[in-house]
This record gives sequence, structure tokens and C-alpha cells, in this order.
Amino acid sequence: MLNDQAHQTKLPYFYPFKFGSGEITVLSDGPLELGDPRENFLGVDAATVTEMLDRNFLSSSSVTLEQNIPLVKINGKTILFDTGMGTSKIFGPTTGRLLKSMQEAGIDTLEVDAVVLSHAHIDHTGGLCDRDGKLNFPNAEIFISESDFDDWTDGGKLDDGFKAQVENARRNLLPHRDRITHFVDGQEFLPGVQAVHAPGHTLGHFCFLMQSGNDRLCFLGDLTHHHILLMERPWMEFKYDTDPKLSARSRTRVLDMLATDRIPVMSYHFAWPGLGNVAREGEGFRYVPAAMQMLSR
Ligand SMILES: [Zn+2]
Repeated sequence: MLNDQAHQTKLPYFYPFKFGSGEITVLSDGPLELGDPRENFLGVDAATVTEMLDRNFLSSSSVTLEQNIPLVKINGKTILFDTGMGTSKIFGPTTGRLLKSMQEAGIDTLEVDAVVLSHAHIDHTGGLCDRDGKLNFPNAEIFISESDFDDWTDGGKLDDGFKAQVENARRNLLPHRDRITHFVDGQEFLPGVQAVHAPGHTLGHFCFLMQSGNDRLCFLGDLTHHHILLMERPWMEFKYDTDPKLSARSRTRVLDMLATDRIPVMSYHFAWPGLGNVAREGEGFRYVPAAMQMLSR
């Protein structure tokens, strides 16, 4: 019998499945409240945004983004992709549960060998450290692109709206510079993990192709933030994009490759747990969620 407290959150908020000779566990950092979709998804008129959401049975007054974090155990390494909001509550009170989700899944933070960051935004790097600036994953080597490390810890090229984000990047990344390694486009920087440069959301934003045995998966990071809006109309713009036009070009190019090669995807912000496939449809794409896979241990 589940107690009342257990019903305060979605259960379970971790999802393990087999991947090649290893295993992936999706961990939630909790949903992030983005607010009015018409203020966040730009480049088409408000009526079109409302129509797209209505047609897909989604609220047109507020958008909630999930934060799906894959913990990947392949080829002898335990790799965490992105870290959630950490202690910041600027996107609402439900964020910052990564460590709790790990605990619920029976995973020790000491097990993590590598933390791979898709980009430097707060909802991806915020959980790297605790309140005192200590690493939450003390045995991990940290990977992020050089340009995102530079752009977001420097802040000089960014407008004032990104102030909190720059402070976050400095707080989480600068003290641990000696643990940080950069990768370049196409590089297999961990066994079975290849970097795919997809710039625009930030200039150093990367997706990651993973392979173990015959299984492949692409972690999309923030290539697309919404399973309907930025898929049906991939040229739409997102409020937090550094270069929205470049972002749309990267989105279209990478999604097209994944659809052609039928590579399964995992999206950081799609509906929990964010796993599925991408198909070409109309002038854009369609996301097809994967069926649940039961893991027998
Ligand atoms: Zn994000």
C-alpha cells in the first residue's frame, strides 16, 4: 500500500531499461514550469501556437517541461548526461530532485565516472554542485564543449537577461576546471559516446550518440524543447536560444539524420521519460514515444 506522501510525486520517477550490453536509467530532476507558451515559442502567431496545443490535448496557457536525465552504464563506465536545476528554484518548486531520484533508483553518486553536459544552461548544469559548491558526483570527470564553458563563465557576449545563468555557470563550473575536459564534433570521447555539435540553442550545444552492442540512442539535450511545437514546426524559435535561426537549422539537420537512420532518441524536456523515435512528417517531424520496457534483474 502506498502512503499519502508517496503520492505527492509521480511514481516511479526513475526508469531503467536494457541498452546493448549495459543499462540506462532515466532519472527525473522534476518538471520545470516554463509559463505561457506564446511567450516562449516564437516566430509564429499566437493563434497557431494555441491551435497546435489544443489539437494535441495540451494546455495552451502554460507549458511544463520535464527534465529527463539518463544515467548510462555502458562499456565499463557510468555516465550521467546533464544534472538538472540543483538548488535554484527560478523555474518553480518542483525542480532539483535528481539526487532524490538517484537515491530512489538505488544509485550511489560515487558510482558516476563521468558527467557529460549538453550545454551550460542552469537546468543542465545547476545540479553539478551542492549549495556550498562541492561536487555532487565526487568521482566524476566533467565534459562540456569549450565554447559553452567560455561563453557562459565569461558572460561578455550575453545580454543581461542571462545574468542568473552566467552566475550559475560560474558557480558550478569554474571551481572544478581541473576536472573538466572538452570534446569536439564527431569525437568518441568516452567508449561508445560520440559528440554531435548542434549549435544555436547555445553556440556550444551538443547532442550525444551512444552505442552498445547493436543498440543506438541519441541524447538530444535541448535540440528541441517540445514534442509537438518544435517538431511539427522545427523552424519555430525558442525564447532562450542564443541564435534561434542557427538552432532551427541544427534541429532540422540532426532530426532528419535520426529519422533517416531510425535511431531512437531521448529528449531532456519531452514528456517523461522522453524516449522514442523521430519520423519525418509534413514539413517537420513527429515524435513517437517508445513503449515501456520492463527490466528483469
Ligand atoms: Zn533545457
